[in-house]
Amino acid sequence: MFSKQIPQRSCIACRRLENWTDLIRTVLVGDEIKVDEDHRMQGRGAWLHSNCLQIAIERKAFNRAFNYEGQLKMQAVSDYLKGLSGH
Ligand SMILES: [Zn+2]
Repeated sequence: MFSKQIPQRSCIACRRLENWTDLIRTVLVGDEIKVDEDHRMQGRGAWLHSNCLQIAIERKAFNRAFNYEGQLKMQAVSDYLKGLSGH
């Protein structure tokens, strides 16, 4: 009777709608993008696929998502993603 609805978010890079559980939430802290692993951090979040970081960088998707002009630090995100794909 009940189908469990999973909220959907769109990836900031490729714009595809996805269950939020399949995306990574990031937030902007100062000029640095952090991964919000527990989905508890305050502020506007930007969601993306774990394999969409490169596209996001090329399209300046983070700048658009956070309405931020200028250079963003995304070392934390790229380290996190490296950890995911690492062994
Ligand atoms: Zn994507």
